[in-house]
Amino acid sequence: MLIYEAKLEGTQDQYGRLDGAIRTSLFVRNSIIRAWLDGQIKSRNDAYKHCKVLADNAQFPWTKQLNSQARQAHAERAWASIERFYQNCRAQVKGKKGFPQFKKQSLRASVEYKVSGWKLSEDRRSLEFTDGFKAGVFKLWGTRDLHFYHLDQIKRVRVVRRYDGYYAQFLIDHKREENKGLTGRQVGLDVGLSHFLTDSFGEKVDNPRFLSKDVGKVKRLQRRLSKTQKRSKNRAKARNKLGRAHLKVSRRRNDWVCKLAQHVIQSNDLVAIENLKVRNMLKNHCLAKSISDAAWYRFREWLEYFGVVYGVPVIAVNPSYTSADCSKCGETVVKTLSTRTHKCPHCGFVADRDENAAVNILKSALKEWANTVGRTEFQVSGEIPLCLKVETLSAKGTQRKRKSN
Ligand SMILES: [Zn+2]
Repeated sequence: MLIYEAKLEGTQDQYGRLDGAIRTSLFVRNSIIRAWLDGQIKSRNDAYKHCKVLADNAQFPWTKQLNSQARQAHAERAWASIERFYQNCRAQVKGKKGFPQFKKQSLRASVEYKVSGWKLSEDRRSLEFTDGFKAGVFKLWGTRDLHFYHLDQIKRVRVVRRYDGYYAQFLIDHKREENKGLTGRQVGLDVGLSHFLTDSFGEKVDNPRFLSKDVGKVKRLQRRLSKTQKRSKNRAKARNKLGRAHLKVSRRRNDWVCKLAQHVIQSNDLVAIENLKVRNMLKNHCLAKSISDAAWYRFREWLEYFGVVYGVPVIAVNPSYTSADCSKCGETVVKTLSTRTHKCPHCGFVADRDENAAVNILKSALKEWANTVGRTEFQVSGEIPLCLKVETLSAKGTQRKRKSN
């Protein structure tokens, strides 16, 4: 799956109608969670049926306005979150099981259409929404050309509301495969705070400069927001500014890690990484740490994506002991966090702490690889749900001037 993104240009009235569709999709989702809690829904089919019940109910006239397949798409989403919860319970996952929650209204939200309820224009430069909300025709602002794909390859169209406007995402059924020569290199990657990553050859990639700059900016805007009065106009303005700053940070970061991941995949035949638990990573309250964690998380997604594209296995290994063990003799050498060099008293091996860890990561990945050869279900990595393995080519928004017709 590929995702192409374009910004939607329309009038305030049209945006208001999109808001209606987004609100309704949230209503459908929450209603299904409610019905599940009440014991009325026990399967995906029940969820579909409940969509019909909602649409036929005169109390909720807006539900009928939303395209019927879009209603179904949101029923599917709701059911997926219920099923995920059941799965976690069955697998006896430690900690929280992800009990389905009601979603609150928020600015960042979306509505998803399947193959109906929308229409691309002949020149594929505008998109029309044809369901009961009558949002009408929007101009598409993006850098990507939709002409390259058949219309029936577009499986879904999603409207995403962000702090800086409304975007359309086209989910395109297309498998990307690229050829790559063998490089004879296998690499292990270790992430740290002082450097973005250290590989098993001892090479380091520093955190990009804009990362710390962005942290400063976001902090400043957060302070400004907290000084404003609740429900005031200034607060809304400050929130919008902060939201836009976060968007900018995440776009810049995504751009950078995407290029880095492609480079790493292209120059290696096997890549080993640590299977860090994303849930634990994002929990910490330090802003700089959370931003670099998010960068690492995105980096890993891109590694796995390009791994599939170029046919390079990306193996995630258990992170325990990777920095404590000696990569030469295997003995455990206890270090504090501030010890930057690994000195082994058993075999005399001396190396940079992160490099030692990266070699350990590569070694245990190879071991895991050898143990699973011949098995059909080789799990390269278990953390990332399938739907995230897509390529998002974000629109540059208003930067490109449209040709005047
Ligand atoms: Zn040693």
